[in-house]
Amino acid sequence: MHSPDQTIFALSSGRAPSAIAIIRVSGPQTRTAVERLCGKLPAPRLAQFATLRDLDGSALDESVTLWFPGPHSATGEDVAEFHVHGGRAVITAMFDALGAIDGLRPAEPGEFTRRAFENGKLDLTEAEGLDDLIHADTDRQRRQALRHLKGLLGAKAESWRQRIIEASALIEAGIDFSDEGDVSTELVAPALRKITALKSEIEETLISSAQSERLREGLTVAIAGPPNAGKSTLLNRLARRDAAIVSPHAGTTRDVIEVHLDLDGYPVTLIDTAGVRDTHDPVEQEGVRRARDRARTSDLVLWLVDANDNSALPLKNEGDHAPVWIVRNKVDLVGGDGAARAQFDISASRGDGVSELVAALVTYARDYFGSGEMALVSRARHRTLLRETVAALERAGRSADKGDELLAEELRIAIHSLGRLTGRVDVEDILDVIFREFCIGK
Ligand code: GDP
Repeated sequence: MHSPDQTIFALSSGRAPSAIAIIRVSGPQTRTAVERLCGKLPAPRLAQFATLRDLDGSALDESVTLWFPGPHSATGEDVAEFHVHGGRAVITAMFDALGAIDGLRPAEPGEFTRRAFENGKLDLTEAEGLDDLIHADTDRQRRQALRHLKGLLGAKAESWRQRIIEASALIEAGIDFSDEGDVSTELVAPALRKITALKSEIEETLISSAQSERLREGLTVAIAGPPNAGKSTLLNRLARRDAAIVSPHAGTTRDVIEVHLDLDGYPVTLIDTAGVRDTHDPVEQEGVRRARDRARTSDLVLWLVDANDNSALPLKNEGDHAPVWIVRNKVDLVGGDGAARAQFDISASRGDGVSELVAALVTYARDYFGSGEMALVSRARHRTLLRETVAALERAGRSADKGDELLAEELRIAIHSLGRLTGRVDVEDILDVIFREFCIGK
């Protein structure tokens, strides 16, 4: 995908129609594109009002255009931004005009950011932070992403890498001197102390980041229970909008419905599972199967029972490990004791007890996400590479008495893993995977 000789363009703002649409261009032909559309090049980095002209000279739109000559631009290349009116026809006309210029083509997802990475404008952890920030739904996710965007993990990894390089230099010197008696051990011992200290530091970072991947992914809460218990009604109340069909007939929620909630900054996905019951309708059977699957893989299950239904089934423990909260619904219809013993008594339709349930969910979420927001490591990719680093440092420590060459080799592996973390070395194989997840225009 890396093709810096090509000039790319994309819509970088949201879906049309909108008040303003921002079309970005990056690459060597950007200057030509701006001159062709605006007539002349605006002053660098200053907003310039201009009537944009189509290639045949007719007026296309009025725009504010920004011109950022490389290398002082977001991608490091020549970049332009056209702020045009956000109508579909305007955007299409802009795309047609840009696409007709030699050397210009529509950008692929994440291609602007990839170019910024290739040109050393940001490291890989910062690029990942940028993607997380764009996809952040809640305030806590935003803050975590921003820490990455600021390069905190990248800077840390780079300082660790430097420290291993220093230790490594001491050992290499030891190898060179090894014919000269004790010099080797004198140099190796301090290097080994450095390595041990560093290994503990990285391990601590991993431990304190244990919950941070959760913040990216969110907490999944399944609302399950027999048909007609009021699952959809509860989901709607929690989501405060009509996301699921509420119906007096059993079995209408045939599939799994997901609603994403922001609970005090924590990302929570609520899942309304189809009424768990035996059925012969194949469509419904499929819904029930999916519901069971989702309930099993969720992080918490709200098992809803009808307070008036004494036959309410307890949740079958089919190997699901998620905690189950028993919620007795429709308490507006009964006076005292009803069905199963419950942690919560609610009326999903009237709202009684729902705020207590939400408060309990927030407390649960706070515990579940822990200090994730402040953590440095937020992706499996980071975790894997840091574990590889720790493992190499550990082997290095153990191989000390087996020869300095072996030790030096383990340190090279550790340096390499940290280099891959920031994208400094040998990452061609993963770049496509990382940038594919980006939006077009970013
Ligand atoms: P589901 O099959 O578990 O999703 O149940 P629904 O949410 O579709 O609810 C089934 C029926 O129970 C509907 O007629 C709802 O209006 C009713 N219902 C749900 N919650 C309550 C409640 O708290 N009190 C009363 N009286 N009716 C409720």
